[in-house]
Order: sequence, then C-alpha cells, then structure tokens
Amino acid sequence: MASMKIKLILAASTNDPLRKNDPFMPLSLPILAGCAPGHDYTFIDLLWENDVRYDEPADLVGISVRYTAENRAYEIADEFRRRGVTVVLGGPQPSMVPFRAIKHADAVAVGEAEELWPVIVRDAEDGRLKRFYVCAPEPFDPGAQSVFKIDTYPDLKKKISPARHFYKRNYVFDTVFAVRGCPVNCDFCSVTEMSGPRFRMRPVADVVAEIDTFKNYYYLLDDSVFGKPATYDYYRDLYDAISSLKKRRFWTGQANIDAAADEKGRAVIRKAAESGLLYAAIGMESINPKTLAKSGALRKMGAGTGSDVIQRMRDNIRFVQDQGVIVSGWFVVGYEDDDIETYYRTWEFCRDMRVIPVIFPVKALPGTRLHDRLLREGKLDDSKLINFRHPGISDEDIFSAMNCVSAAGFSWMEILKRTSFYLPRFMDDIIHKTIFALVLQTKLRGAIDVSKDEFYVDRSPADKSAAAN
Ligand code: SF4
Repeated sequence: MASMKIKLILAASTNDPLRKNDPFMPLSLPILAGCAPGHDYTFIDLLWENDVRYDEPADLVGISVRYTAENRAYEIADEFRRRGVTVVLGGPQPSMVPFRAIKHADAVAVGEAEELWPVIVRDAEDGRLKRFYVCAPEPFDPGAQSVFKIDTYPDLKKKISPARHFYKRNYVFDTVFAVRGCPVNCDFCSVTEMSGPRFRMRPVADVVAEIDTFKNYYYLLDDSVFGKPATYDYYRDLYDAISSLKKRRFWTGQANIDAAADEKGRAVIRKAAESGLLYAAIGMESINPKTLAKSGALRKMGAGTGSDVIQRMRDNIRFVQDQGVIVSGWFVVGYEDDDIETYYRTWEFCRDMRVIPVIFPVKALPGTRLHDRLLREGKLDDSKLINFRHPGISDEDIFSAMNCVSAAGFSWMEILKRTSFYLPRFMDDIIHKTIFALVLQTKLRGAIDVSKDEFYVDRSPADKSAAAN
C-alpha cells in the first residue's frame, strides 16, 4: 500500500486562554505518528495555528481532543467529513464520551492510543474502519456498532519513538512521559479511569535517551513526578540518570506533595531538583478539608486526616520550595462545601505560602465519579462550562472573585515578593532561575486571564449586557 496523507490535529477552542501562550509541545501527535510510521503526516496545533487547511489533500484526519476543545473538535470533524475525508477522534474527551463523539466521526479511539493507532491506520488504508477502537480492561458495549478492543493498557516497556520532527514550529519546552496510571482515584480526575489504577513505567533508558535529544527545557508529563511509594525507586533512578547526562537541561512537571511527608519521597524530591527541576505545578485542589476529604484528594496531600491537615500541607509545600523549586498551586473552588469566600481564602493561603495561585472554578469532567454523582443528584448543567450549579454561588460571583484573586495574585508586587522568596533558595544558576521565575509568572497570568471570561463563565446574552452596563 502507498503511504497515506494523514493530518493530525490538536483541537483547541478559539478562546482558550492557552492560545498563543502554551510553551509545551503537545506529545499526543508525535506519539501517534511514531506508532504508525511510513506515512506522510502533517501536524496542526490549534493552540498556535488558526487554519485547519481543509483544502489540503488528506486521506485520514485524526483529532486529539482535550476537555476544553470538544465543540471545536466536532466542528472541524464535521467539516472534514462533509468534504469526504475520514475522521478519527481520540484523546481524553472522546474517551470519556465515545457515543457523543461518534456522531461526529468515522471512528473513535477510546483510551491510550499507542496500540490502537497502528490498527486504525491499517484499517483506514484497507477501507474497513470500525466505529470504535478501545484499549482498556473494562467491558465496552458498542451496541450495534463495530468495535476493535484490546483488553489491557499499553505495555510501556515496549519502545515508543515519538516523531516530533513533523512539527513545523519550535516549542520552548519539549515534552516526554515516563509513567502512567494512578491509584489515588480522586473523584474529579479521569486519570485512573483512563490509564488504570496501577503505575506503568517506561524503561528509564528510553526516557533518558529522548531527553538527551532535547534543547534546553522540557516538561515531564507524568501526573506525580515526585512519585509514590510504588514509584520512588523508579524516579530516583530516572533522576540519577538525567543528572549523569553531559548536557544540563531544565525541566518542569506536575508534582505531588505527599512525597514530602516521608523520607524516601524527600530523597526523590531532592534528586528531582538536582536533575534540573525548576518548577512544579502542584494540584493542591482545595484548602477546605471537607472538600479534600470528599473528593479523595486528601490522599495525595501527605497530610493524614487530623485537624492539622492544612498545616501539614504547608509543611510539605515548604519542603519542595526549600529545594529551590518554584511552586504553583492548582486549586478548584466551588464545590458543595465551599462558598464564595473560599476563593479569597485560597488566595490568602497562596499569598502566605508564596505559591503562585492558579485558581479555577469547578468543572465536573464527563466520565468522572464527580460528574456521575452530580448528574445523579440533579446538580449539573452540561450546557455551561462551569457545569456544577452551586446553589449559593452565581456565575457573576465567580467571575468577580476570580478577577479579584487574579489581580491580587499576579500584581507586580506579589510577583516580585514571590521571586525574592525563592532567591535565597536557588542553589545555583541564580540569574537564570530568577528570570525563569519572572517569565513563568507573567505567562501564568496570561493563561488564567479572566478577561477572557466567556471561557470560564458561559453567560447568556442578557447576562452579558447586564455585565457591560
Ligand atoms: S488528581 Fe492526581 S492523584 Fe488524583 S487521581 Fe488524578 S492523577 Fe491521581
């Protein structure tokens, strides 16, 4: 068979705050192209490009859909199909709502794609595409529609060779992953559902070989880069191997503070910092102990269950900061046990801890236990981006609180105070790390710019004119 022209698109909403602001190379497209090589791939990253280039010839279009890009992805898929091009949807959103996605696609990939994509490409070449391609141990009932199913998660011990060269633009941060899966199973998160409750690790040598091709900065995409007891040894070996590379690079990642609560975890955090970790984005989720307990996120705070949970979270955060690692705290506010004051108290927590505040209103993601529960209890409105309708908090209150918190949290005074807090903690490369801290904070300010409020708050036309007055 001759090679196919395959267009891979990372979908993004036109008003996504990350547009023209996301420094990270999306890894999903290179992974797909690397799994089914020998074809003529074009990558389109809609966080940076505007034009989908419908007129370019394509035999197959694959669209990777994040949670915030569902409608845009469907628009694009519908237009390609109207022009007779075969479309496959995959990624987190279609995996959680495959029966919604299939209305806009010839096929939907459910779950991790490494072992599905080569089959999809082969079936598309042969003109016998099935409707669903599923990679997960759980049963999947396609109804009357055709399905190809693999009953296990991909074996990450097998070599994965992302084909990054198909990108036409240079990203500030390369991206790589080492571990997938999570046993914590917070009720708002889809990772356990999508990647399973057991950690799967790539060979350290494969990960490090990829890192050794990167320029200066990279993002380790794992969910908990300080590890859990089951992965401490793995991450220790990984960070030792990274530290032994000739070229020193700097990296960022999503981190977990529970590792700071035990000695073995603390050793991993120190090694991560030594290997070039500059910045950790930490899902702190809430400063409301009731909300932490209800969602299950308390399990990832390393804070026990006593009355001093918040103080113990503070201690764990401070340990990470003391290694010279800049910390942002990612919070979701607006659960049942929160009120509007929780926004302001969350900001005060960040201010006191010198944590960069990244505070969002709650959005229950489809397929999560939180979404299922709120739906059962009649508390959801999925036509709104902030789909949990809190009886005591209006969209206007949320917008006003976010505006206030973001203005305070990202004022130049606060940015400078935070930067000077880290200065004595940077053990080396002080000028570089200081500049990094300043640039990082200005970028994050843009990424959560609430003036793009329609991204956060879906207002009706009447609401909009009221707000404008
Ligand atoms: S939020 Fe983090 S700890 Fe909780 S399930 Fe998701 S990945 Fe695991």
